[in-house]
Amino acid sequence: MEGQKTGKKKIKIYKQRIKVGQIETSEIARLTSQYENIDTTTIKTFKDFPLSKKTLSGLNESGYSVPTEIQKESIGLALKRLDILGAAKTGSGKTIAFLVPVLEILFTERWNPMDGLGALIITPTRELAYQIFDTLRNVGRHHGFSAGLIIGGKDLKFEQKRLQGCNVMVCTPGRLLQHMNENPLMDTTNLQILVIDEADRCLDLGFQKTMNGIIENLPPKRQTLLFSATQTKSVKDLARLSLKDPVYVSVHENAKYSTPEALKQSYIICELHHKLDVLWSFVTTHKKSKVLVFLTSCKQVRFVYSIFCRMRPGNSLMQLHGGMHQLKRMTAYDEYCRKEHAVLFATDVAARGLDFPAVDWVVQLDCPEDANAYIHRAGRTARYTQSGESLLIITPEEEEGMMKRLEDKKIPISKIEVNPKKLTSVQRKLEAILAKDVEMKQMAQRAFVTYIKSVYLMKDKEVFDVNKIDLEAFARSMGLAVAPRVRFLKRKELLPRLPAATTPDDQPIAELEDAIQTNFELPKKTFDFGVGDTDDEIDDIMVVKRRNHDLMDVPEIPLDMEKKKKNKIITKESAAKKILKKNLKTNVKMTFDEEGNAKFDATRHKMTDAAREYEESALAADTPGGINIEKARQVLLEEDKADKQMFKEKIKARHREQRLKDKEERRRIARAKKNESSEAEEESDDIYTSEIIDSLPDPDKIYGRNSESESDNEEDVSQSKKRNKRRASDSDDVSIGQQKTKSSKKLKKKNEDISLVNYEELALKFLES
Ligand code: ADP
Ligand code: MG
Repeated sequence: MEGQKTGKKKIKIYKQRIKVGQIETSEIARLTSQYENIDTTTIKTFKDFPLSKKTLSGLNESGYSVPTEIQKESIGLALKRLDILGAAKTGSGKTIAFLVPVLEILFTERWNPMDGLGALIITPTRELAYQIFDTLRNVGRHHGFSAGLIIGGKDLKFEQKRLQGCNVMVCTPGRLLQHMNENPLMDTTNLQILVIDEADRCLDLGFQKTMNGIIENLPPKRQTLLFSATQTKSVKDLARLSLKDPVYVSVHENAKYSTPEALKQSYIICELHHKLDVLWSFVTTHKKSKVLVFLTSCKQVRFVYSIFCRMRPGNSLMQLHGGMHQLKRMTAYDEYCRKEHAVLFATDVAARGLDFPAVDWVVQLDCPEDANAYIHRAGRTARYTQSGESLLIITPEEEEGMMKRLEDKKIPISKIEVNPKKLTSVQRKLEAILAKDVEMKQMAQRAFVTYIKSVYLMKDKEVFDVNKIDLEAFARSMGLAVAPRVRFLKRKELLPRLPAATTPDDQPIAELEDAIQTNFELPKKTFDFGVGDTDDEIDDIMVVKRRNHDLMDVPEIPLDMEKKKKNKIITKESAAKKILKKNLKTNVKMTFDEEGNAKFDATRHKMTDAAREYEESALAADTPGGINIEKARQVLLEEDKADKQMFKEKIKARHREQRLKDKEERRRIARAKKNESSEAEEESDDIYTSEIIDSLPDPDKIYGRNSESESDNEEDVSQSKKRNKRRASDSDDVSIGQQKTKSSKKLKKKNEDISLVNYEELALKFLES
C-alpha cells in the first residue's frame, strides 16, 4: 500500500513538472515573440516589458516598478541579444539595467545547473561585486539559478567548490583569472552573456593584463554588455572585447551636465598644510550628517582615521581601503550602509558603483586623478531620486588645471570660501599625539610619503606638480617635526629627460618617462599585480592608470641623448667603484709595548696567512677589480677558524689560572690542617680546634670535580692524573672526615654553652699557627 502511495505521489510530481515545463515553454515562446516589438516610448512600468513572471515578481518585491531611463533604453536591446555600451549618470539604475536581461536570457534559454556558467558579471571592486550579488539575489529570488560571488580575500578552495554548477557569477577580475588558471571546475564554454560594470575602469591600464587573460578564456560567441557612468568609447577596448556592432546607449548624452541634477557641487581652495584643519572643522560641524571622505592612499586613510579617532570629534568614524582585511572591509561597508550619521574615510576603492544609502556629503580631501574619478566619487551621493552635496578641496596649484578638466566634462561646480573663524588648527594636537605615540608618528610619516608619491605618479602633470609642494609645511601640518626623506624626488632630478616623441605603438613618451621614473624608485612588488587578490588590494595610489606599464620594456634612451651622459645617474655601486679606483689607504692604529716593539692586535689584523696575502694582493692591485667573492669567502672561513681557536685558547688560559689558584688554596688548607693536628697532639684536651677544621669544606670535593672537565691538553691530563692518584690515597680520609663530622656534631651538642667569643679566640689561635 505504502509503495503504491509513494509511486502515485511521484507520478503526480512528475506530471506537475511536465505541466510547469509546458507553461514555461509557452511563456518563453510568448515573450521571445514580443522582443522585436519592444517600443521604449510606450514603456511605463516593468510590466510593459516582455519579462517572465519570476523576474517581474522579483522586481516588484524588491521595490522596483517604474524603470529608469537607462533601464528603459537598454533592457529591450539586451533582450534582442545585442552588444551594448550603456552610459548613464551615477545612481541612475544601471545595475537593474543589466541584471534583468541576465535573468531573462537564462530563463528563455531554459538554463539549469547542469548547463554550467551562463552569465558572468565583472566589477572592479569586491564591495561592488557583493552589492550586485545582493541585488541579483533579491531580483532573481523566484528563479532557480545558482549564483556565486567570486572575490579576493576569501578562501580559494571554498570558492572552487561553490563554482560547480554556478549559473551566474559575480566577480572581480583578479580572482576570476585565478580561478580560470587554477580551477579545473571553471568552465566558460557555455557562457551566454558577459557583463562588465564600471567598464572603463575594468578596461583601463590598471586591469589590462588581467582582463586580457580573462577575455582569452571566454568563448568568442557571446553577448557583451558594458556599463559605466563614464563609458569607454575607445576603439582599442572594444576591439579587445570583440564586440559585434555594439549599440551605444547613452541616456544623458545630451543632458546639460554629466552629474546628477540633485547633486550640489562646490569646491574650496586650501593649502595642502591646512587640509587637515579644514577636514577637522568640517567633521566637527557635521555631526548629524552621513559623510564620505576620499583620500588618495590607504596610508593616508589609516592615518587620518586613526588620528581623528584619537581626537574624538563626537562622530562615528570609519575607514575603508584596500589595505584592510577582507572581513573588516565588509564590516565597515555594511556598518556604513546601516548608519544614519557617520564619517567614512576611504580611498578610491569606494569611488565606483557603491550605493551607500542616504549619503549627505562627499568630501574629496585630495584632488581626484581626473574628471572621471571626480564624477564617480561625487556620485556616491545624490543617488536615484535623492539629493546630496559634494565638496572638493584643492590646492591653489591644482585649481586652474582641475577646473578646466571639470568644465570640459560638463560638471557644474562653484567656488566657496571657508570662514576662517570656523577653522580650527589641529597641528598642535597632532604634534602632541605624535610625540607620545611612535606608531602614530610612523603612520604620519608613511602617509606623508605616499601622498607625495601619489602626486608624483599622477598622469596629468598640468594639475599635479610634486615640485610645488611645500614639504616641510605639509609635514608640520601632520604633526611631524621634520619632513620625512622622499628619496625618489632627489633621484628624479638626476634622470635624463626623454625627447617629446612617440613610440611605435603610439604610447606618449611622457607616459613612458613616468614608467622609467616609477621603475627607478618604487619597489617592483607594487607593480607585480599579476593575478589573485590584487584587484583593489594594493595601495590605492598605485591604482593609477600607469600601473600596468610593462616597465621592463621601457625603450632605451635614443642615441642623440649620448651627450647628456654627463648627467649620468650616480648609483651606490658606481660611487663605490669610484672610491676603489682611488686606491685610498685608511689609517691603521698601532700599539707598542714598553720596549717600543709593535704589538700584534688580533682584533685589528688578519690572523691567517691566507687573509694577509689576500689583503696585500687587493691593496697592491692597480685596477679595482671589485671583490673576488669566492676568495673572500674562503678567507673569511679561515679567519673564522683562527678566531675560534684564539677564543678557545683564551678560555683555557683562564681556566689554567683558576686551577693554579685552587691548588694554592688547597695547599694552604692542607698546611693548616697539618699544623692543627700537631697542635692537637700537643694540647690533646683542646677538642674545639678539630671541630673547626672539620667544619671546613673538603676542597677536593669542590675543586677536584670542576677541574676534571678541563683536562684537554697534555698539561691538564698530567695534572688530572696526579689529582686522581691523590684522590685514591685520600679516599680513606673522606670516610674519616665523615666520622669526624659526626663526632663533632655530638661535641657541638655537648658544648652548646660555649660562647662566640671562645670560638673567635680559638680561630685566631689557629690562624696564627
Ligand atoms: P548606478 O549603477 O547607475 O550608479 P544603481 O544601479 O546602483 O545605479 O542604482 C542606484 C539606486 O537606485 C539603487 O539604490 C537602486 O536600488 C535604485 N534603483 C535603481 N532602479 C530603480 C527603479 N527602477 N526603481 C526604484 N529604485 C531604483
Ligand atoms: Mg553601478
